[in-house]
Amino acid sequence: MTTVDVRVAKARWEQVDLRQHCEHCSLDSRLLDRLGICPGRQVRLVHPTAGPALYTVSEERHETDPGIVRVGRGGRARLEAGDGFSAVLDLQVPDLGPAGAPAGLVERLDDGGAATGLAVLAPHGGGIEPGTEAQAELVGRRLGSDRATVWQCRGWWPGRLSFDRWHITSSDIDPRSFPRLRLIRDRGFAHAVAFHGASLPDEGAVLVGGLAPEAVRTAVVAAVADVLAGSTLDVRLAQDTDGLNGDDPANIVNRLTVEGRTGVQIEQSLAAREQFGPAIAEAVAAVYAGLLRPR
Ligand SMILES: [Zn+2]
Repeated sequence: MTTVDVRVAKARWEQVDLRQHCEHCSLDSRLLDRLGICPGRQVRLVHPTAGPALYTVSEERHETDPGIVRVGRGGRARLEAGDGFSAVLDLQVPDLGPAGAPAGLVERLDDGGAATGLAVLAPHGGGIEPGTEAQAELVGRRLGSDRATVWQCRGWWPGRLSFDRWHITSSDIDPRSFPRLRLIRDRGFAHAVAFHGASLPDEGAVLVGGLAPEAVRTAVVAAVADVLAGSTLDVRLAQDTDGLNGDDPANIVNRLTVEGRTGVQIEQSLAAREQFGPAIAEAVAAVYAGLLRPR
């Protein structure tokens, strides 16, 4: 079973996680059993008129009615919905249709099937964090499918709602919910790099984080600094205090690497992506070309 009718209700006062994380929802334990899933998975909640948004099941609950799904106020706002509404819960997270649809979420994997050198990720491509999927593809082309595997999701929704409808934070992305990601989740890549977009000031237009050794992250910073030289934009290493520093072992960019400690997360302001997106990707490709075995 992949779909079930549910009733979306307000988070209870004690569900602090739901009130703080608009992408999170709670499900009744009987519903989890019926669906055959555990917490951690992503689901679609489909509003009868507003359409779908993605959520992470962050909590198992015992409800009087097993059909109750709870989300916080911010979570309901993602669907432009009020306190409670009927919805369809769907385990099918990416669309099965072709890329380029005007509204939806498409998952794509470009994989030679055996590459273990580098996973290149754009989890939030399309309208979610524009430009990032093109950067990932460029790195894949430069390094070739024998050295690099590219995984991307492209989400689109009218009215600049792509982010609201499709964004799932990188630490929550569950390969069991993304069939193509599932194919490479145990590959054990030597390195992984993820391209992201974020609201960053120009003086910190690019932030390089992740659990990779500092030498790797510093090499990426230096390469991007060359690209940005002469502009008003800047790049720096992410610090512990940066919220987007990519240092969570659960972050998909770290999880895909063989020891879980060689992921690099690149956060970029819109200006950086618009003005230097391809050049930044070229610089990143050059760094990894030096780290991976020659072709
Ligand atoms: Zn992102």
